[in-house]
Amino acid sequence: MALTKLFIASALITAVLAVLQQSVSLDGDALQTCAVLEFQLPGRVSFRGSDGYQSQTDSYWATNQGELLSACHVTPRDSTDLQKVMFLIYHTGSSFAIKSGGHSVVANTSNVDDDVVIDLELLNHVTIQADQMIVDVGTGARWKDVYQKLEGMNYGIAGARAGSVGVGGYLLGGGLSPFSGIVGWACDGIALLEVVLANGTILEVDHNNDPDHLMALKGGGSNFGIISRARLELVKTSNKLDVAFIQYQMLDVMHVVRAITEYNHLAAQDPEAAVSVSVGGRLDESPTISAVLSHRQGVLDSKVLQPFFDVSHYLVRHERLSQLELSQIYDDMNPKGFRQHRTTATIHNDEKSLVGIVQSYVFDLDPKLGNLGEANMRGGLLIQPLTYPHLHHGSLAASNMLGLQKEPSPLLLLSAEMRYSNSCSDSFVHQSLTDFMNGAHEYAAENNASHRFRYLNYASADQFPFEHVQQNQELWSEVQAAKQKYDPHNVFGKQMRHPFKVQHLV
Ligand SMILES: Cc1cc2nc3c(=O)[nH]c(=O)nc-3n(C[C@H](O)[C@H](O)[C@H](O)COP(=O)(O)OP(=O)(O)OC[C@H]3O[C@@H](n4cnc5c(N)ncnc54)[C@H](O)[C@@H]3O)c2cc1C
Repeated sequence: MALTKLFIASALITAVLAVLQQSVSLDGDALQTCAVLEFQLPGRVSFRGSDGYQSQTDSYWATNQGELLSACHVTPRDSTDLQKVMFLIYHTGSSFAIKSGGHSVVANTSNVDDDVVIDLELLNHVTIQADQMIVDVGTGARWKDVYQKLEGMNYGIAGARAGSVGVGGYLLGGGLSPFSGIVGWACDGIALLEVVLANGTILEVDHNNDPDHLMALKGGGSNFGIISRARLELVKTSNKLDVAFIQYQMLDVMHVVRAITEYNHLAAQDPEAAVSVSVGGRLDESPTISAVLSHRQGVLDSKVLQPFFDVSHYLVRHERLSQLELSQIYDDMNPKGFRQHRTTATIHNDEKSLVGIVQSYVFDLDPKLGNLGEANMRGGLLIQPLTYPHLHHGSLAASNMLGLQKEPSPLLLLSAEMRYSNSCSDSFVHQSLTDFMNGAHEYAAENNASHRFRYLNYASADQFPFEHVQQNQELWSEVQAAKQKYDPHNVFGKQMRHPFKVQHLV
């Protein structure tokens, strides 16, 4: 029945295309594609100058994405609309971008000049099936929509710390969360994905049906199709996390670094703990060190978190928070409306390397960018332990395309981030961050502590997150097989200007 419907829909669209082809030339011109989309999905396409277009461009988190001027934004209401959009884009050869929550800071990922943007914002349903411990979520939803539904229930979910982050981009990049030690990457909790392929076919992929290819979709970004819906596993919890926000003085930086590596070393003893540490702040002030420690039960009772309390500290805030409440705090700390740039590195859990990298951030990068004299410029080096239970969860329950399941020891994920206002600073900021991260890698390599992993969700446009996957023959051949099956004509490569594409190395 479904196949018959699909066949009829495809035949109808082909007929429409044939008629339209007599009056317009469908040669990939985005504006013409937008016009045909408006014909197919009346009221769902917004063009430059309209209020709808403005509110969609305003919804990007970083202005360096929001300022790009696409030919139009199309907002499908459901996967059938999405099917029509993809079918047309495939046949016209138009370039396009996919937007879920619009939180990527990399230009051309979810917005593009003069191309079609497929905005998934209306695919935002959230349906909880508590008896089965799962939630069905449209990938255009924001994490706060999911947390809102879970409020007051005895369940949590591996989702973004900031509630305004989109489900789609976060999940397809991997997904770090306060529950990473218990459930691994957020993408490890994917039970099922609904995928719209380039030719408009809609597939449901799960562990029973196509497990190998499901693996490639987990952490594979926008390389295979548009994910319209995800079924995600819930985490049994009171929905409240015990959270401590802590500050340290810069003179204690060595002790904090030791606490991070000690925690990472011990973390397997208590997977319920999670840690992120940030060094930085306003560039016209001295940098500070802040840490957010969370635990399902109690941060103060967790032995693995003790090293952070042993260093002289100021406890800014300590309370039990629901995921919704916590995500609002993160949203407040990370307002939208600024230019943003970030770049990432991964190193082994090596104290000496981390000390050197933090010192390089504090004594070289921070003052160098501070000299730009931009008011309100802020930056930070975010340090997140990738603990042993986090990395190994995937090897037990499911596999993913991040390729870290066999790591023999924990890692440290680093992200250097800058937020500023003046576009004239772009090239200097980008180059400075690149130089800093290259230096960080060289230093870690001198200590035999560098690692190839580049986290897709934190990568800059000049980084290639799938490089280390390519080194893994078994994983890479599965990725190639998934590409061949889902996107054999490489529409998601050729027709997207997106930088993170697997076929770059094919
Ligand atoms: C304030 C803030 C907090 C963050 N917190 C966390 C965190 O706690 N943990 C973490 O791991 N990361 C975090 N991130 C990083 C975040 O996961 C990435 O920026 C992610 O890409 C954002 O997803 P999005 O849907 O909002 O972005 P978008 O810009 O809409 O999409 C990002 C990418 O995914 C693609 N994409 C989106 N949806 C789909 C889809 N349905 N099908 C196919 N491709 C799709 C887009 O084309 C684009 O390339 C945070 C980022 C910010 C700005």
